[in-house]
Amino acid sequence: MLDTHEAKRLHILIAGAGIGGLSAAIALRQAGHVVDVFESSRFAVELGAAIHLPPNVNGLLRRLGIQPDDFRCNDAEFVSVFDSQGNVVSSKDVRNLREIYPFPWQLSHRIDLHEALKAKATSLHGPGVPVTIHLRCKVVGCDPAHASLTLSDGTVVQGDLLIGADGVHSVLRKVIAQEDIAAEPSGGSAFRFLIPISKVKENPETAALVQKAGELQFWDGQYRRLVIYPCRNNTELNFVCLHPDTESEGTTEGWNIAGSQENLLRVFDEFSPAMKALLEMADPESIKLWRLLDRKALGTWINGKSCLIGDAAHPFLPHQGQGGAQAIEDGVALGALFPLGTSRDEIADRLELYMKCRYERATMVQNFSRQAAFKISAKDAVGGTSTDPLEFMRINFGHDAHDFATNMLRKHLASRITNPDALCSVFGPSNPLILGAPDSQAILGSPSQRLLEIEFRARRNYLETFLPRMDSRIASPGGWSKASWAVRRIQPAEWKGHGEITVVGLCIFNSILSPDQTEPKEFNPVIFCDNAEFVIAAREELNLPILLVDLKERFIGAQYQMKLERSGHTFMEIHADLAANHQNGESGTDLGGKSWVSLTLLKPDVVEALLPGLANVIGRLQGLDMKDPVIARSKLTV
Ligand SMILES: Cc1cc2nc3c(=O)[nH]c(=O)nc-3n(C[C@H](O)[C@H](O)[C@H](O)COP(=O)(O)OP(=O)(O)OC[C@H]3O[C@@H](n4cnc5c(N)ncnc54)[C@H](O)[C@@H]3O)c2cc1C
Repeated sequence: MLDTHEAKRLHILIAGAGIGGLSAAIALRQAGHVVDVFESSRFAVELGAAIHLPPNVNGLLRRLGIQPDDFRCNDAEFVSVFDSQGNVVSSKDVRNLREIYPFPWQLSHRIDLHEALKAKATSLHGPGVPVTIHLRCKVVGCDPAHASLTLSDGTVVQGDLLIGADGVHSVLRKVIAQEDIAAEPSGGSAFRFLIPISKVKENPETAALVQKAGELQFWDGQYRRLVIYPCRNNTELNFVCLHPDTESEGTTEGWNIAGSQENLLRVFDEFSPAMKALLEMADPESIKLWRLLDRKALGTWINGKSCLIGDAAHPFLPHQGQGGAQAIEDGVALGALFPLGTSRDEIADRLELYMKCRYERATMVQNFSRQAAFKISAKDAVGGTSTDPLEFMRINFGHDAHDFATNMLRKHLASRITNPDALCSVFGPSNPLILGAPDSQAILGSPSQRLLEIEFRARRNYLETFLPRMDSRIASPGGWSKASWAVRRIQPAEWKGHGEITVVGLCIFNSILSPDQTEPKEFNPVIFCDNAEFVIAAREELNLPILLVDLKERFIGAQYQMKLERSGHTFMEIHADLAANHQNGESGTDLGGKSWVSLTLLKPDVVEALLPGLANVIGRLQGLDMKDPVIARSKLTV
């Protein structure tokens, strides 16, 4: 007999063990499924140069248990634009990006990233069943409706879900998308190679070009551009030498096509002597010529029980460093959309959600890459539209594909509950939020009415999972957003019952709950209170997300402590050190004084057993991962 896990597991087939295929394999393995990957190559010769791990994907890798610092990634620290003679056009220090995005922008070698993904997918340790990678297994066809694929030796493999991750020349694309739009030359090509930075520093003519660690350099000539940045702990310098493809030899396309140094020097002849000296240092054997392909967006990436991800779905020009990142986003989104327990009958429906999560986003970033391309010729109407390499950064970097997909799935599932009970209404669209009716803020009051407010920051896309509708969002740029825990005392005169009441609630700032809301406002997805009469009234009369718990407050010297408990189990604590907070006023800014809010560290199954009625809420709050809590308001007196 099957154990319950085995009974719930899906068997997932993936064509292609590139960056996207392996990311999907890890995410789905960790979700609890059995994954088989079919890769045409032998992985005998590892190919590729450097690749970006921007914040939007850096966090996803960390969530999968892959630490980019472990495979010698270095941070991107400066972004500088030069003209062909080396005059500075602009230079930005990007070391402070951690203030705006939760995760760093790092630069990796593709081989190191690929190795790390392979190791994580197949590791005997960690969650889930190790992924099986079948090498030298070329996929030649598939049956999208039945999730089966055919290998070149005629073998047919049957699964529950099929993922086409077979790269820019995907064979599954035309079967799954039912459109035969092949990738086409974009008009540009790139010479690619790496030079050891120690060698560059040894030469007095070139040493000045690598003075700043972590510098991304863009050198713009006429109808050509050099993109240069370090990888492997700032020991190797990666070159992408972009130029019109008519100027370099050959029309073949691939990742391993040799390029000639003679041609490289001729194509970039207009550049400064120092830069030409740098290009001359390239090992001629190592120079590859990479033809840049582009393709019109496909109408769909899904069909029956099959889907496309990565370059197979949306090949990228390299001008935003997002090709690998978007493939990883696709894979991680699939992991979030197919949690263990997803039934075979739900697969087609989940793939519809996958399209909703990924199509618009990837197509938009694809368009940014086109606009950020170098101008290939005077007739080129798209390339060169954007001259600032950081123009699209906020949109590119400020997205968390896992949180976004989780949000979509939650709201999708909740929208199907026809008779939501009171507890499942918390945090969900199943709560028929009546806009214009008294909302939770009526209970938590305006900021000036609050006794204590501890502000913190959390991932924006995660906070959005607490908003009520699929199209609700937080109007703040970047990857972080602000929220707070507020404590308020409601006086007897303010309600029909008796006595003073204490409430504790989560406040999400800058919320836009529906597209017709013009001004962002605070939203309170959950409030805790220890007065049963008040909770019943607020829930039944106002339909507010308020939960009954025990609130235990005390002072230990100048330390204020509030414990939230149910059935004798503490699930959350709020601490405020009021010693430094002598102003006891309201300002909305950090009043000083240490504060923290902690959630129980108990695992979900233990919380479920101890506090079944609160487990969902606690689990969601545990995911908040609150950073930098500060006392923003306090009227507490010691
Ligand atoms: C060898 C190589 C070198 C690269 N070098 C760079 C680089 O230096 N810098 C950069 O920015 N990007 C590079 N890329 C591109 C970048 O990795 C991808 O654009 C991006 O990661 C998207 O990932 P993907 O998984 O969709 O595609 P890819 O990473 O291209 O992976 C596709 C995988 O599918 C396999 N495959 C193809 N056809 C079949 C088939 N019929 N059956 C089974 N398997 C198949 C391929 O062998 C490959 O492993 C390189 C890609 C490859 C394959």
